[in-house]
Amino acid sequence: MTDSPLTRRALIGTAALAGAAAVLPEGLAAPAPPRPAATDGFRIVTSGNGLEAAKAAREALLAGTDPLDAAIAGVNVVELDPADLTVGYGGIPNEEGVVELDAAVMDGRTMKAGAVAALTGVKTPSKVAKLVMERTDRVFLVGAGARRFATAHGFPDEELLTEKTRKIWLYWKNRLSDLDDWIEAAKDAEDPDVKEFVRKYGKGIFRPQGTIHMSVRSASGDLVGVTTTSGLFFKIPGRVGDSPVIGAGLYSENGVGSAGSTGRGEANLLTCGSHTVVEHLRDGLAPEEACLKALRRIAEKTHHVPRHRDAKGRPTFNVQFYCVDAAGRTAGAAIWSGSKYVVGDAAGVRTLDCAYLHERDA
Ligand code: ASP
Repeated sequence: MTDSPLTRRALIGTAALAGAAAVLPEGLAAPAPPRPAATDGFRIVTSGNGLEAAKAAREALLAGTDPLDAAIAGVNVVELDPADLTVGYGGIPNEEGVVELDAAVMDGRTMKAGAVAALTGVKTPSKVAKLVMERTDRVFLVGAGARRFATAHGFPDEELLTEKTRKIWLYWKNRLSDLDDWIEAAKDAEDPDVKEFVRKYGKGIFRPQGTIHMSVRSASGDLVGVTTTSGLFFKIPGRVGDSPVIGAGLYSENGVGSAGSTGRGEANLLTCGSHTVVEHLRDGLAPEEACLKALRRIAEKTHHVPRHRDAKGRPTFNVQFYCVDAAGRTAGAAIWSGSKYVVGDAAGVRTLDCAYLHERDA
């Protein structure tokens, strides 16, 4: 007779656990994380584009909604807003004109997470990420598999490119080269949507991109996070940044803190920044110092590619971290000055300046 794999696995697991317990030296078992008193109040921390999202999450928390559902309801506002070109519906597409979305959620109560990347046709990828967490024994689904999973859960396949982003994409594509088959019409640059885009993003020193991260600490001290994005503008199809990667784009752990990021995803992917921020909290750093220390590591480690450093050796890109610790202290910090973040609590929501490593030249 052969054991069923499940039975064998269960038995091995039980035996291993029993063995581990038998050999654990006294005092090695992790103490239960302290839970702040319920009276401490809830906290929301989110990126600078999250003012309306914070208001929605705050309303949800005040109504008694579960903190992760409240955070998702918050970022849904931005995902569904075609005016935000960096997240969800109306996000800038990839180089082929297809909107590919990345999102992840993490629940610090259970240490479970769910993520999707390069997902097409769903305006609210954060909801699909939560379903990955809840309805599979997996963490991360990408591309066609993520799409099929979303379809299985009833999400229709919708066009995420708006008339505005189609025009912006076509303008970008037409201007790529004089040596290809695409020709810019003289009037293209006069289109108000194109003009606004060029004014807002055309002169920046950083490659345009954007994202929303939101971390929530509930009134009873539970910590959760969600990050959602359309990623780098005009990215290579299939490119995934930091946003949906657990440990990079977000990390939440009850008793310690919750953190998330926006900015140049590749730099953050290479240092697992959000996890680093939470580890710094665990070591006792205050939230702002934890974020700045993780940013310093990114800045220090970015020295192999000349175009990623300016003449003074500083990064030629930006990354922001947002975090809330178990006690409800919040922070936002960036490599470069000028970034904003949003905090929400029982008193209301407000936009604040991020701490930073370097002052931008005037
Ligand atoms: N971190 C995002 C990404 O790399 C973009 C951003 O937040 O600006 O896809």
